[in-house]
Amino acid sequence: MSQPFEPVIGLEVHAQLKTRSKAFCACPVVFGAEANTAVCPVCLGYPGALPVPNREMVALAMRIALATGCTVHGVSVFARKNYFYPDLPKGYQISQYDRPLATGGTVEVRGEGGAVRAVRLHRIHLEEDAGKSMHEAPWDDVPSDVSLVDLNRAGTPLAEIVTEPDLRSPDEAYDFLVRLRRLVRWVGASDGNMEEGSLRCDANVSLRPAGSETYGTKVEIKNLNSIAHVKKALEHEIARQAETIRRGGEVVQETRLFDPGSGATRPMRSKEEAMDYRYFPDPDLGALVVDAAWRDEVAAALPELPEPRAARLSASLGL
Ligand code: ADP
Ligand code: MG
Ligand code: ZN
Repeated sequence: MSQPFEPVIGLEVHAQLKTRSKAFCACPVVFGAEANTAVCPVCLGYPGALPVPNREMVALAMRIALATGCTVHGVSVFARKNYFYPDLPKGYQISQYDRPLATGGTVEVRGEGGAVRAVRLHRIHLEEDAGKSMHEAPWDDVPSDVSLVDLNRAGTPLAEIVTEPDLRSPDEAYDFLVRLRRLVRWVGASDGNMEEGSLRCDANVSLRPAGSETYGTKVEIKNLNSIAHVKKALEHEIARQAETIRRGGEVVQETRLFDPGSGATRPMRSKEEAMDYRYFPDPDLGALVVDAAWRDEVAAALPELPEPRAARLSASLGL
């Protein structure tokens, strides 16, 4: 029986940028330190504390952008993404919205039968990470109905890399992430270590009748922390959506969570729209200006990239 549905997949990848200090303050970026020791008035969101952008954060994101052939914009804008959560003390996340650092660009994947395909990148923007909530504390003296929060991670610099919905199978998504992780490591922008959370992925997937040109309703699977989980979650979600459609039901647009134990996804919340976040330019931060000289300097310092190097070596050495 031929596959009646074609999966359409787009990924949003958060890569933690390898800076020594946080995105908008001088706190060190640490992993595994004692809770709430790498914090200051800026990343704790104290009234009156003012953010100052980390130049190295911008340079590292630019490396990813230039290595993927993106256009780095001379002017981009930091915006506030407003929501309430205990791990977000300011009540908003500093991100970029309608004026991202970079747009365009591609990452090559190997599709069915080994053919090389270019997956288009929609945008690469800068943002800060939130803190970490701990709902099941591993200590006997903490009651089970108490949640704890560690704000060491709050304000850690991230590059969010968003693809166009160009991927067509869980295997392609897997291959894309392997290549992207290799690239961010290669250019020295990120550790790309999914176990420590320095690379995290939200996967968006919809189905459409094979041969159709329009997209179906997508479901977003949040916070996948290994490349293998991305593939498994997509496989499960594709089967679930196909079954829903076969039964005459409709796929609901929502955010789901993947449970590695059962290999299944479950609903987390109905999808919020951009409007719900009340984005607006952060008045504490001016426009982010990248002049041609800085961009060219970052480009000139990039190492030879993996694909061109492989092509050069196999041509020159006859491998
Ligand atoms: P949202 O506003 O819901 O975040 P975006 O348009 O910003 O949606 O897209 C987020 C991600 O979802 C991108 O990676 C994009 O490629 C992907 N995407 C968008 N539409 C679809 C679709 N119909 N099916 C699968 N993925 C999609
Ligand atoms: Mg999104
Ligand atoms: Zn700080």
